[in-house]
Amino acid sequence: MTTPSTKPALKLDGIYMDHAATTPCDPRVVEAMLPYFTQNFGNPGSRNHSFGWKAEAGVDKAREQVAALIGADEKEIIFTSGATEGNNLAIKGAAYMYEKAPAGSQKRGHIITGTIEHKAVLDPCKRLQKEGFEVTFLSPPKDGVYTAEMIKAAMREDTILVSIMWANNEIGTINEIPEIGKLCHEHGAIFHVDGTQWVGKMPTNVERDNIDLLSFSGHKLYGPKGVGALYVRRRKPRVRLTSLFDGGGQERGFRSGTLNVTGIVGLGKACEIAMQEMDYDGQRLLALRQYMEAEVTKHLDSCEVNGHATKRLPHIANISFGFVEGEGLMMAIKDIACSSGSACTSASLEPSYVLKGLGVGDELAHSSLRLSMGRWTTKEEVDFAVKKIVEAVKKLRVMSPLYDMHKEGIDLSKVEWAHH
Ligand code: PMP
Repeated sequence: MTTPSTKPALKLDGIYMDHAATTPCDPRVVEAMLPYFTQNFGNPGSRNHSFGWKAEAGVDKAREQVAALIGADEKEIIFTSGATEGNNLAIKGAAYMYEKAPAGSQKRGHIITGTIEHKAVLDPCKRLQKEGFEVTFLSPPKDGVYTAEMIKAAMREDTILVSIMWANNEIGTINEIPEIGKLCHEHGAIFHVDGTQWVGKMPTNVERDNIDLLSFSGHKLYGPKGVGALYVRRRKPRVRLTSLFDGGGQERGFRSGTLNVTGIVGLGKACEIAMQEMDYDGQRLLALRQYMEAEVTKHLDSCEVNGHATKRLPHIANISFGFVEGEGLMMAIKDIACSSGSACTSASLEPSYVLKGLGVGDELAHSSLRLSMGRWTTKEEVDFAVKKIVEAVKKLRVMSPLYDMHKEGIDLSKVEWAHH
């Protein structure tokens, strides 16, 4: 495995293990974007002068780069502000276009999704449910992987849309996308995939993978924030969507609004780099993740790697540590930027609904870490993170009477606690 010759150096200010949240912008992406802030600043909608043409040429090139990464035609790419918008446009746009009964009536159509999807899928589905669509939210199995069998069991005559993510953002598990897509096509249902964590990391081909709608965000693949793309299939079947914005009719009417030219150029460049370096990055990160998981579990008992053993993205590890207090753990490793198994909603710490969905208890969900690595993560950084985590967990366990009891061989699930 040789380093791609064009890969620039990038020294981050700290240990960053949160690439599933966002990635640094690749310096090559920044370089490609810069002229579009100043010299090529025109509006691609200005058809009568060179400023507009130059901006349009930048957007056209980016559209080709994005389409090439996912095996699509340029005409099938709609630029958005990110995956949240892409998911909303795909889900609501398809539901309103393919509804079986008009607004105001019940039984407007049936939609299938999963309970561990991102909120940017769950919440549009919940809104549609309030508006008269029926939605089946499928619970995942313990390993977190949705199979075509599960979707088949939920499929109905009136199912208009299925929305399943390619890979989960918390545990990295990979769903049976090509098989689910095939099933949807057999049943005449539109298939939307939230590809935010997958695209740019793993090989993607919308034809081979039977996808009708695919959303993703630039900032997860070393591009800028606030830009993304939605793939909309144009043949077999030709997918139509009801647009969410009314306005200037850009993006063939699917998404009105002056194009974010700098962002789009950056997304295009990020896709081009991803295509060239995904194999190298993927292999390197898989080895690093496996090494990290092996080191952590070698030095610590009572910890569990969440999600399917092999059907998982190379760069995301999610580990639960028994007998430690979640907040204490986060405090002890605060010089490692990573995510915990809890989300801070208002004042309370809610355990992750994804981990809960897999059957991980509240306590254990709190003391879970998502460590996600990226293009510039080094083995030294992984060693440092492992050392810190192992030290922190051992220290916290010294203070845990439950851990003592566990060490003495007492089965804690059978203990009858006195209640006062
Ligand atoms: N879907 C998934 C799976 C994600 O991980 C994210 C980002 N965390 C989103 C959608 C939303 O992306 P954005 O915030 O860029 O709109």
